[in-house]
Amino acid sequence: MPVWNPWHGCHKISAGCGQCYVFREDAARGVTTPTTTVRRTSSFRLPLRRDRKGDWKFPSGTHFWLCFTSDMLIEEADEWRDEIWDIIRQRSDCHFTFFTKRIHRMKSCLPHDWGGDGWANVRVGCTVENQDRADFRIPIFLTIPIRHRFIIAAPLLGPLDLTRWLDPALIKEVSVGGESGKYARPLDFDWVKDIRRQCHAADVIFTFHQTGSYLIKDGRTYHIPRPHQHSQAEKAFRT
Ligand code: SF4
Repeated sequence: MPVWNPWHGCHKISAGCGQCYVFREDAARGVTTPTTTVRRTSSFRLPLRRDRKGDWKFPSGTHFWLCFTSDMLIEEADEWRDEIWDIIRQRSDCHFTFFTKRIHRMKSCLPHDWGGDGWANVRVGCTVENQDRADFRIPIFLTIPIRHRFIIAAPLLGPLDLTRWLDPALIKEVSVGGESGKYARPLDFDWVKDIRRQCHAADVIFTFHQTGSYLIKDGRTYHIPRPHQHSQAEKAFRT
């Protein structure tokens, strides 16, 4: 599944941004341009690329993951976003997923023909890292017409009570993850188990997509190297 980063750069908006990997990775590459300068990338029109025969480079059914080094709804990209909607409109044969910490901006960022239910090929994830951001963002999220909504509880920084919003007709999935990096804040496995319990009670799909760098389990803190964070999360509920 290709990642489509039409722009790069971001600015921090809430507690979950504290150890943002975009800043870390830019610094590691010695990038001197501040990450907070949001710029268009050479991949801006990625889904429209064609091969030598003139066929789509990315075939029908491709699932693009958008804006992994920025936020789809960031203010600095307002002047470019209509072109992105137009590309998604042209590739209605493909799927597109993005998640955002700026769901409060979404209504003002929608295309004119989004409709009363949203486009069928677009999935939107609302990212929440703690109860405070869940209480603020999820009620807004639920007022926006979106065909496929999911909640990204990552990097999870504390216990979360999502029960009042968990309805499979509204939320397709909740996905939990920890924080990566040398200075990552630890993820308590009890928080993860509790969200899983809430999802199962409400019949909402639950996934644990990565442990983060530090996982507290049965009173011990484990350091999980980056290459194992996804696989350890996959195994977490098997034992
Ligand atoms: S919104 Fe996302 S990309 Fe932007 S600073 Fe926060 S964590 Fe990083």
